[in-house]
Amino acid sequence: MIIIETQNAKETFQLGKRIGEKALAGQIYTLNGDLGVGKTVFTQGVASGLGIPEPVNSPTFTILQEYDGGRLPFYHFDVYRIGDIEEMEEIGYDDYFFGEGICLIEWAERIPELLPENRISVTIEKDPARDFDYRKITIEGLEEDQI
Ligand code: ADP
Ligand code: MG
Repeated sequence: MIIIETQNAKETFQLGKRIGEKALAGQIYTLNGDLGVGKTVFTQGVASGLGIPEPVNSPTFTILQEYDGGRLPFYHFDVYRIGDIEEMEEIGYDDYFFGEGICLIEWAERIPELLPENRISVTIEKDPARDFDYRKITIEGLEEDQI
């Protein structure tokens, strides 16, 4: 388990970027944390590290946004609004989860039954006792040298 503390959005972006630069084909990143904690900021960093040229935003009304312009295909899921896991089956999620690209799932805790054992879990938390922009980022399933 790796814990990294960031003091502002740029540091969280940079952390994502370093991870994106070293990301390996087939990896699945699950992101958890409250609304507005920085999941999408982190995701934008990963996308940047993968060399994706287009802007990455939270796909609010679609579960999945696909980016093909980087070093590896990047599949950005945001399952915040998912009603039923059948919606994941409809989009054929397993082709992405078990494919050769990088999957990143915001609000992964909403689809626990679909998450493979072999994944990289990223949890972002605020701390009311700390500065407003402080974030504690806990990463499980990734070695130090992959960051
Ligand atoms: P989420 O996707 O988790 O709902 P966003 O990434 O969309 O959250 O928004 C995070 C917000 O918090 C942004 O406005 C960002 O500028 C701000 N922010 C402040 N400090 C940090 C930090 N340390 N890391 C990430 N985002 C931060
Ligand atoms: Mg988001």
